[in-house]
Amino acid sequence: MKPKQPKIRYQCSKPVLAGREEEYVREAVASGWISGAGPYIGRFERMVSEYLGLEDGIAVSSGTAALHLALLSLGLGEGDEVIVPSFTFVACANAVRYCGAVPVLADCDRSSWNLTADSLKAAVTPRTRAVLLVHLYGLPADVDPILEFCEAENLLLIEDCAQSFGARYKGRSAGSYGDAAAFSFYGNKVISTGEGGMVFVRDAENRERARRMRSQGMDPARHHWYPTTGFNYRMTNVAAAIGCGQIEMADYHVQERRRIGRRYLENLKGIETRDLVQLPVQPPGRERVFWLFGLVLKTRDPQARDRVIQSLLGEEGIQSRPFYIPLHRLPMYASAQAFPNADFVGSNGIALPTYSGLADADIDLVSKAVERAVREA
Ligand SMILES: *Cc1c(COP(=O)(O)O)cnc(C)c1O
Repeated sequence: MKPKQPKIRYQCSKPVLAGREEEYVREAVASGWISGAGPYIGRFERMVSEYLGLEDGIAVSSGTAALHLALLSLGLGEGDEVIVPSFTFVACANAVRYCGAVPVLADCDRSSWNLTADSLKAAVTPRTRAVLLVHLYGLPADVDPILEFCEAENLLLIEDCAQSFGARYKGRSAGSYGDAAAFSFYGNKVISTGEGGMVFVRDAENRERARRMRSQGMDPARHHWYPTTGFNYRMTNVAAAIGCGQIEMADYHVQERRRIGRRYLENLKGIETRDLVQLPVQPPGRERVFWLFGLVLKTRDPQARDRVIQSLLGEEGIQSRPFYIPLHRLPMYASAQAFPNADFVGSNGIALPTYSGLADADIDLVSKAVERAVREA
């Protein structure tokens, strides 16, 4: 017999469809516009662009597709090296490979979990053409020194904002600093379309290239004329209808991610002071969101994290998730180089339940369980 699975009372993450999503989906279905054309797509693109203060977003079928088009639109390809953090979601390195380019890994910062200008210096070579900067867990990376580095080395900057919708760096939205930016609307992101994404490209000509590549690369001036190999990366009108319901509530979702983060930070101060965990940082000049609220156990015991995760699940039905396995530990991206910070964060990080509507009392209950589990681990 299999052991009984504990019942989950608090999911780590879930989409919250608290606005007009259902009404818009019904309307889309009733209208018959269910594929990659229809009025909700343009409307969603305009609303997201306006919300973020970015120009002319292109809705696509996933965040990974958005990354791929961002890289392609800038002309990255065969032989080009793109610096990618080792501590990130695998889609980042995959998208570089889709272009025929080479992902070169860099270590992250121990406290922000993001790339820094210093970490880039160790990864740059004469073949480096771009940096894929990921604003992880809703914290914008320290963009200014990275931009300075990119300018000095003549590198393109692509921002992966999949986890940082609503986050701002020095007053401007994450995604407004690079040559291109990619967002994801997967089910666990700050706002969701089920599956979906959006790509922003600064240069108008490159942007048109991304738009064409979303739809098989067709020449807009000549129907069925395909000068390049394109993709089908269109977002459906049904997904965009969900997105329109979500973006109307964007302020609510962003504020919820901040409220939840603030409360966890306040509640968990004690175990941070006792040096048992490292909590998310909030450097000045950065209005972060909490995509998922993460913490890192300060331990050398490789089993401690699993014990915490099991204890949370068993005692209160709290679902938590381990952080990413760093890319240099995956067979596809194995590297002889050492990335000690990515290893530390990746082996000891835990994401706690974070979703709109998670009540203060529930955050307090989860926090108490975390304190107990961490002290006992
Ligand atoms: C979610 C995510 C992606 C990919 O998004 P999908 O919509 O799942 O394809 C890319 N990068 C990061 C950092 C992500 O968190």
